[in-house]
Amino acid sequence: MAGKLALMGGRPVVEGPVAEPWPQYDEAEAKALMEVLESRVWNHGPKCQEFEEAFARFQDAKYGVVCSGGTSALEAVCRGAQIGVGDEVITSPYTFHGTCLGILRAGAVVTFADIDPETNNIDPDEIKAAITPRTKAVMVVHFGGLACDMARIQEIADQHGLAVLEDACHGWGAQYAGRGLGSWGLASGISFQQSKNMTGGEGGIALTNDETVADIIHCALYAGRSRYDRAPEHLRWGANHRMNDLTAAVLLCQLERVVAQTEIREQNAAMLTRTLSQLEGIEPIRRLPEATRVSWHIYGARFVQEEFEGVSRDLFMKALRAEGVPVGGGYSEPVYRNPVFQQDWESGPYRPFAWEDAPDYQDLYLPGVERYCKERISLSQTVMLASEERMRDVARAFEKVRDHARELVAMSELLS
Ligand SMILES: *Cc1c(COP(=O)(O)O)cnc(C)c1O
Repeated sequence: MAGKLALMGGRPVVEGPVAEPWPQYDEAEAKALMEVLESRVWNHGPKCQEFEEAFARFQDAKYGVVCSGGTSALEAVCRGAQIGVGDEVITSPYTFHGTCLGILRAGAVVTFADIDPETNNIDPDEIKAAITPRTKAVMVVHFGGLACDMARIQEIADQHGLAVLEDACHGWGAQYAGRGLGSWGLASGISFQQSKNMTGGEGGIALTNDETVADIIHCALYAGRSRYDRAPEHLRWGANHRMNDLTAAVLLCQLERVVAQTEIREQNAAMLTRTLSQLEGIEPIRRLPEATRVSWHIYGARFVQEEFEGVSRDLFMKALRAEGVPVGGGYSEPVYRNPVFQQDWESGPYRPFAWEDAPDYQDLYLPGVERYCKERISLSQTVMLASEERMRDVARAFEKVRDHARELVAMSELLS
């Protein structure tokens, strides 16, 4: 391909920003906010109820309980599954820390099962290997909105009497076998935090098809209040993680946008995957055939140095960024490297759970995720919303850098 690398003074393939500012809004959000202001119901009110019903339906779940965020939703989901002190929950080591906090704050111990680097999701065989007599549930994470292998995971869970819970925080509108993520397990949590594909600034929802579970979740998030028993003196156990009507009003507008936005991301992802699959050393994440719709909160691929003429991932990303593509590396380490798992429990500042023989995370090394963290490259959902023309430029930038791989090798040898 013609042209010098931008990193070496050539002209960048992509000129100007790839992504539009995020979040997106227009007069619809402004009007909805004004309506709530004028109603003087600024706390949890009719907009919250309207949104939780609409969103649960959108995601194919029977019940929804809106709340302050994904992390609080996941804690409530664990409570809904009656998970607590002495229990273990298996989850993915390639996720945001909020997944683990949800489990820890319910009082349970987090156990990690390695991912399959090809799918970026928890490996069903590794789940099997991680089960102990204390295991109560599996919290799967549909990372980037790519569905996990729910059929196999449910089968394993059934064999061992475990609940399946879903961190569907990236699941807005995404599907497995034609049905919404978050509607498959016993309960699930979804986030509407600022960076997410649907946002109210902050916010979350817990979903379930089970009425009793929905009620326990409601108690956990609504200061001990049942969904059904409105008597103010009948309070159960819980915390206050309510959503308010200002947030819900914005989310109702965002829900109107998400189908069309997902369609754009799907088309861009399909085009990009076609191009990247042709490039030696770049392996787009494998999408299960059952992942009938993907939200592409993050588009991911693996960068395999040995197959890319030996160019390091860092240098590759530098070259791609110089071409105008805002590529990232994803999480630099598995989530079990976070301080909460690495502290010395005897002298540490606090203990998230009471269980005496918590696993020793300090020696934990899961080879799949360790390698994945070093190889992953990511494009954000805002990049995936670019116009078709823009996305073609992004794909061309990848091709250009691949074509100049040998020059990058020569350059790094010169510098070392
Ligand atoms: C964002 C996120 C969460 C937490 O959601 P908050 O709304 O920020 O609390 C949990 N899990 C995953 C995978 C996330 O991306």
